[in-house]
Amino acid sequence: MIIGHESIVKYLTKALSSKHLAHAYLFYGPKNVGKTTVAWWFAKGLICQGNQPPCGQCSNCAAFAKSLYPDFYVIEPLPEGRDITIEQIRHLKSKVSQTAFYNSRKVVILRPAEYLNSESVNAFLKMLEEPPADTILILICNNIESLPATILSRSTMLKFSLLPQHQIEQALSDDYTREQKKFITNLAQGRIGQALCFNSEKIHGIIEAEKKVIKMLKSAPDQKISWLTENLASFDDNFVDLTTSLIRDILLHKINQSDFCIHTYLTSELKTISTTHSLPGLLKTLKSLFELPFNLKKNINPQLLWQSIFLKF
Ligand SMILES: [Zn+2]
Repeated sequence: MIIGHESIVKYLTKALSSKHLAHAYLFYGPKNVGKTTVAWWFAKGLICQGNQPPCGQCSNCAAFAKSLYPDFYVIEPLPEGRDITIEQIRHLKSKVSQTAFYNSRKVVILRPAEYLNSESVNAFLKMLEEPPADTILILICNNIESLPATILSRSTMLKFSLLPQHQIEQALSDDYTREQKKFITNLAQGRIGQALCFNSEKIHGIIEAEKKVIKMLKSAPDQKISWLTENLASFDDNFVDLTTSLIRDILLHKINQSDFCIHTYLTSELKTISTTHSLPGLLKTLKSLFELPFNLKKNINPQLLWQSIFLKF
């Protein structure tokens, strides 16, 4: 189910019914706001044979729903790799250069587009320059700055934004209490995908993880290092987001903007921490956390990266 993004859905619905379609669409914007959900819906619409695509009733829609439709391709990094490789793009090229199996369109979803490497991005660009017949390419990208301008200029760009808090709150199951809904909405910060992944167990896990990070932030340097060594293996994207959101709240307390804080249940603790740190120091820590995912991608030692952030805090 698509939540939000009404104007994009309206635009794509019009494109589907008028059949005035671009060769390539670029869905870009923050992670977990629903780009993939809209891309799948649009892909289904592109191969649908009904009058109001995607009708959900025709044989193409049925085959698509069961992942059996043969002219639909998803290109993403292989489980063992970090990039979308040139071999994957070459393979895709040979597939889409053939006639569609069902005399319909071929549809490709490529995600995340920023994972194209220097070789594969050029091969993909050639596909955009000489679009294969009856093929629609849908690129999904979280970080548009990392894509070459030549890709942007050859795609119809659709910008996805963070969803308003009330829209996320409405989408949450009524099994949650009002407080739990508030907690999830605050944490998700407009990312519906993140909000819908929550459950009571996960909420409990996050609260426990946050308490541990705060305890570590207040500890002595040698304790920080041993905590880091012990826990490093479990650090994932969610941990980066969690730590970033805590530091962000400490910064907001520092500048007396507590109204915008996410972790309202930690107000007194975070406020106290904010009094022991300078504003430039907090800004520096936050910037390092923003840059962390990019530095991790450059294969810089994760232990050293985290250590430099926590020890300077
Ligand atoms: Zn259909």
